Amino acid sequence: MERILKSLFLFLSKNKSMTRAAKKYGLRFGASRFVAGESLEMALDVIADLNRKGLAVTIDYLGEFIEDEREARTMADQCIEAIRMIGRENLDCQLSLKLTSMGLDVSERVVMDNLRRILETAKANHVFVTLDMEDFPRCQPTLDVFKNLRAEYTELGTVIQAYLYRTEKDIAELNELHPNLRLVKGAYKESREVAFAEKKDVDENFKKIIRQHILNGNYTAIATHDDKIIDYTKVLVKEQGIPGSQFEFQMLYGIRNEKQLQLVEEGYKVRVYVPYGTDWYGYFMRRLAERPANVAFVLKGLFRR
Ligand SMILES: Cc1cc2nc3c(=O)[nH]c(=O)nc-3n(C[C@H](O)[C@H](O)[C@H](O)COP(=O)(O)OP(=O)(O)OC[C@H]3O[C@@H](n4cnc5c(N)ncnc54)[C@H](O)[C@@H]3O)c2cc1C
Repeated sequence: MERILKSLFLFLSKNKSMTRAAKKYGLRFGASRFVAGESLEMALDVIADLNRKGLAVTIDYLGEFIEDEREARTMADQCIEAIRMIGRENLDCQLSLKLTSMGLDVSERVVMDNLRRILETAKANHVFVTLDMEDFPRCQPTLDVFKNLRAEYTELGTVIQAYLYRTEKDIAELNELHPNLRLVKGAYKESREVAFAEKKDVDENFKKIIRQHILNGNYTAIATHDDKIIDYTKVLVKEQGIPGSQFEFQMLYGIRNEKQLQLVEEGYKVRVYVPYGTDWYGYFMRRLAERPANVAFVLKGLFRR
């Protein structure tokens, strides 16, 4: 049953008419549990509050799979505005973005123009930028863009997904750049041709790449809500004498809030991924796919006026 629900939510996450309807009707169905708000102002309040609690943040202006140059430019403008505000308000906050929202599916020129504008502003404001990883067809293009720009912009990172077979090789190849990488299990629906289907295999590969990247001496963000992976990392860094300045834990806004604070209390660096904006539908569906138990929130939202 869980597998069927997962597939259903991942299928729904890419439905264009549902995305349009969601934009029109605003944050509904319990989505506000996972999304900081529809405006930058609302997100800034959330960031300041998390910072006060000792949590670092990475902010994400929601939007993905954009096929229009003008729309991609508007998305990039929103990122630039967010970076300026982060700088002005001196927040402990980075920026995450999806290349499809910057025009990856439009053309190379569009995506590179938008990224350069964002990265120049980020450089001036000392804000680190992470390129989120999307579905498998966008994996190689995302890594190509990353490699291309990383030489010019050192404050740039990306994401590697443990469910892909290619992951170990990607980490080995990226090592010459000594990149700051966020490691995750992977959130999209992928075929058995390219990704592990069994959770236990994904978990094993996740541990393997955490070890590989940290022991290569690189900054590693372990982005997970899974206690087993968190505990594995704690033991690894202790055994290997890895300093706290070389890694951090990351979790999504609204998920395991107490655990986030507990880790801060224990002295670990924790960063919360805070999404905001009107294009919340696809992100929300992927969160439901990860944990169909969250459907309870949707049902409550449906009956709340
Ligand atoms: C900061 C951050 C950034 C990410 N960036 C990307 C990215 O760029 N590309 C990408 O493909 N994926 C990304 N992901 C998503 C990631 O790939 C996983 O889909 C997601 O983190 C769920 O996997 P998990 O490691 O938490 O473990 P799981 O095995 O899914 O969950 C382990 C346990 O965590 C708790 N939990 C997990 N999810 C939820 C939930 N939704 N609600 C409540 N409890 C929950 C439950 O107790 C569960 O048993 C990101 C995740 C994080 C935390």
